Amino acid sequence: MRLTEQLALLIQLQKAESAVGRIQVRKKDLPLRMEDLEKEFSTLCTEAEAQREQLESLRKRRREKDTQLQTGQESLKRTRERLLDVKTNKEYQSILKEIETLEVKNSRMEDEIITLLDELDCLETATKARDGELNVSRQRFEEQKAKLAQELESLAEELTVSLKKSDEIREKIPADLLRKYDQIKGIGRGLAVVSVWKEVCGGCHMSIPPQQYNELQKATTTMNTCPNCNRILYWENRNSDK
Ligand SMILES: [Zn+2]
Repeated sequence: MRLTEQLALLIQLQKAESAVGRIQVRKKDLPLRMEDLEKEFSTLCTEAEAQREQLESLRKRRREKDTQLQTGQESLKRTRERLLDVKTNKEYQSILKEIETLEVKNSRMEDEIITLLDELDCLETATKARDGELNVSRQRFEEQKAKLAQELESLAEELTVSLKKSDEIREKIPADLLRKYDQIKGIGRGLAVVSVWKEVCGGCHMSIPPQQYNELQKATTTMNTCPNCNRILYWENRNSDK
């Protein structure tokens, strides 16, 4: 096999295996993003639930106040009726005093109920708005979740395809060359074959000697490696439009 063919296969293999690496990173990242989405939405639900509970307890207080007021009004009525049966002036004055106290108390309760009604009104409006927002968020959450699930599925397919492709390329490469590639890849954090442009190694970004750069641009008889990071080099003309 000619050197240029070997190099072409190595470049193909590197591209396929880099794609595998990228897919694996994304595949790992997606479930974490799913978790974040779920947490975010669950927080919104908890907040909305707390507001609904607040509204419910305010409604309960209003019912209690209504009952209290009703009781107050009834006892006022009964006290007024007692005025009809009084025998002495002293008793009369005492009941009048009692009536006055009850009236003040009832009037204060009415004021409290009016304030409560205002609060209830505000909270009901706010709760309605929040429930509306929650519905929008729920829809968005479901959409994003479905999208992530779909992406995860297609990534699994892409991974299978890329792995198969890598295997197919590997089968075409001579064993000793493949060994060398794997060895460099192991040291070079997944990168064994890198392009060179303007005398700069695409792996370590260091300059390579001008003479080696000239050689790289011609058809060569030896496999060139970077003097700094030891990765296999190929020249890539980045001026050409492909
Ligand atoms: Zn290098």
